[in-house]
Amino acid sequence: MQTKDKPQINWKTKLNPQQYHILREKGTEHAFTGKYVHNKKNGMYHCAGCGAVLFSSDTKFDSGTGWPSFSDPVTTKNIVLNDDDTHGMHRIEVLCKNCSGHLGHVFDDGSTHSGKRYCINSCALKFEEKS
Ligand SMILES: [Zn+2]
Repeated sequence: MQTKDKPQINWKTKLNPQQYHILREKGTEHAFTGKYVHNKKNGMYHCAGCGAVLFSSDTKFDSGTGWPSFSDPVTTKNIVLNDDDTHGMHRIEVLCKNCSGHLGHVFDDGSTHSGKRYCINSCALKFEEKS
């Protein structure tokens, strides 16, 4: 019998181990190790899990923290913000709305117009350069 449920995505085969750890197990890559920390090319950052467009190079700034940082998402419709009280602190977790993948956290200390700093793991992103 056919079920109407969406087929379960096997993330372990779709993602590499580091991507899996971050997107599905809410891990964090080590500071300054991500491939997009110093990426200054023009383009869009997509979810590494499902391809949803999340951030634009237009909003990327150098926060000095060691993770790709953005002042705003491309659209708030593609992300979900969740209270995260793990590790003895209160933070706001940023998730991909489409696949529920963990992306990073958002902080209120951005040195930008929005005052926000979306601190996102490189491993959770897939960059597509604008041609
Ligand atoms: Zn996604």
